[in-house]
Amino acid sequence: MMQDKYEILNRYFGYTSFRGGQEALIDAQLSGRDALGIMPTGGGKSLCYQIPALMLPGITLVVSPLISLMKDQVMALKNAGIQAAYINSSLTPEQQRKVRSNLWAGMYKIVYVAPERLLGEGFVALAQKLNISLVAVDEAHCISQWGQDFRPSYLKIVEFLDRLPRRPVIAAFTATATAQVRQDIERILGLREPVRVVTGFDRPNLKYQVLRPWDKSSALSKLLSLRRQEAGIVYCATRKDVEKVCQELQEQGFSATRYHAGLSDQERQQNQDDFIYDRASIMVATNAFGMGIDKSNVSFVIHYAMPKSLEAYYQEAGRAGRDGQPADCVLFFTPGDIHTALFLIQNSAENQELDPQERDRILKQDYARLKAMEGYCKTSKCLRGYILDYFGQSHPPHCSNCGTCLANTVEEDVTTHAQMILSCIRRIRDRLGYSVGATLLLGVLRGSRAQRLTELGLHRLTTYGLLKDQPAQRVRLILEYLEAEGYVHTDSVHRSMDLTQKAGEILFHGRKVLVRLPKEPQQVPKENASPEVSQSLLTALKELRSRLAKSQGVPAYIVFSDATLTDMAAKRPSNLAEFMGVSGVGESKARRYAKPFLERIQTFRERPDL
Ligand code: ADP
Repeated sequence: MMQDKYEILNRYFGYTSFRGGQEALIDAQLSGRDALGIMPTGGGKSLCYQIPALMLPGITLVVSPLISLMKDQVMALKNAGIQAAYINSSLTPEQQRKVRSNLWAGMYKIVYVAPERLLGEGFVALAQKLNISLVAVDEAHCISQWGQDFRPSYLKIVEFLDRLPRRPVIAAFTATATAQVRQDIERILGLREPVRVVTGFDRPNLKYQVLRPWDKSSALSKLLSLRRQEAGIVYCATRKDVEKVCQELQEQGFSATRYHAGLSDQERQQNQDDFIYDRASIMVATNAFGMGIDKSNVSFVIHYAMPKSLEAYYQEAGRAGRDGQPADCVLFFTPGDIHTALFLIQNSAENQELDPQERDRILKQDYARLKAMEGYCKTSKCLRGYILDYFGQSHPPHCSNCGTCLANTVEEDVTTHAQMILSCIRRIRDRLGYSVGATLLLGVLRGSRAQRLTELGLHRLTTYGLLKDQPAQRVRLILEYLEAEGYVHTDSVHRSMDLTQKAGEILFHGRKVLVRLPKEPQQVPKENASPEVSQSLLTALKELRSRLAKSQGVPAYIVFSDATLTDMAAKRPSNLAEFMGVSGVGESKARRYAKPFLERIQTFRERPDL
């Protein structure tokens, strides 16, 4: 019996509903029409051709530019119980022959092929005899010279299609949005009245921020030390910076690796694998890294310097949070970055063999792109809105999940709170005969029960607990303001805080204190986020996932995505049926993994501390 697309979605991929755009693209291919899908990274393009592939009578060829990407996708398909294979230069001639004979024997529904292989010896002849229902072109922008990733080998697709006895359905997918690239794809691939679906470019789970650190190195280590358990990418503008930053991070004990065009193929492959298989959690790289990297649990992308265009930034930052989990995109900006970018632009124009007119045109275009990028770094408006404007998409004025929206401040009269802080400093000093640091001071003000505080008898001060209803961060910001304005002095060696003479103005002479403080942050809706998720259970499930992945020799995210584990930790299934109700658990994965995960959850129920 013919299965319907919902059944397939659920059985193989473990999802219950389609995301925006998926269904229309799938329906188009199933009805024999060409399709063009423009969706952001993480939008779910793969399912758009994998589901038709499973439902159409013949074979689906997927043209994909990168070896690592194909390997990854095939691994994921096999894990979902789907017979698939790839043909590219990483296979020995013997292995290629094997795949071809399996293909002939009808063992695969989906085969990934590198564009260079399409016209390769024997492949056309074989393809002419096969029943090919669908050719899906992934990263289709590679066919356009306007895009940033033009690959001449993509032009071979056209020749290959011409040589087939019967034209299959053609579907093309990309995350690149510009009209020029879109037109090129349609024209060059010869799509026939394709069903076009352009989904929005917003990635609500990404939090965009621009920082202007004095010292990038220390700002970076600070950011990374808050993210010890997480995987992420640090993009640098030059190879030299990659070397420097990677070395510094390694010296500080971070598990970092590097990637740039100056390394040997072998080292690049090795480092990339280390990152994908979670042996290294931080990848420091130039923009040479990342295309076709499918790792879904990248939870931050930090740009150590400003990229050359907003297209590049959107694409690189977009490698974070593919699984829909909250992720950070932080850009370090200093005015010097503009000079570096200008230099790189001029250099690249000079290194190409172009006639002067063409060169001028390209330079002009690159300068305009740089200007837009610079604008992003300097805007005081919503950062997400800035990006969406650039791609021509409308949006609300505030997103509540970017540096600007979150840091939105209002000036408040905090005179009373300032007086409380200052008199607390004085009373502590009166009591102890010496002054203390900010942590203890804030502890007294907010009524902490810390042992040290009670031992010193500070809980008996009249200022104890005066600000207990105020958020700690807010009290700290007021204290920082008082220090910055010279009402409080911090001893540079002991870090202890004392009043200055000027403090009297606030305490006794009625000086008003006006401070800019963040507005109450609005709650950001997070996909799959559930208040019930126990972090310790989630950690336990992640550990189990790592172990299983290791023993199978696949990256952790091939076993389950972070989104799936989060849903599992929230639902805490106790039997197979419940396990299959977790988002991202299909039949094959349930068969393979239900037992160990159910056992782990059971153990957690009995002993949450284990
Ligand atoms: P893209 O190729 O567009 O960057 P992917 O195809 O890699 O995106 O999909 C990104 C993530 O979204 C994957 O983890 C995938 O399993 C998940 N996903 C795709 N479609 C759905 C869906 N309908 N429901 C839930 N998750 C989905």
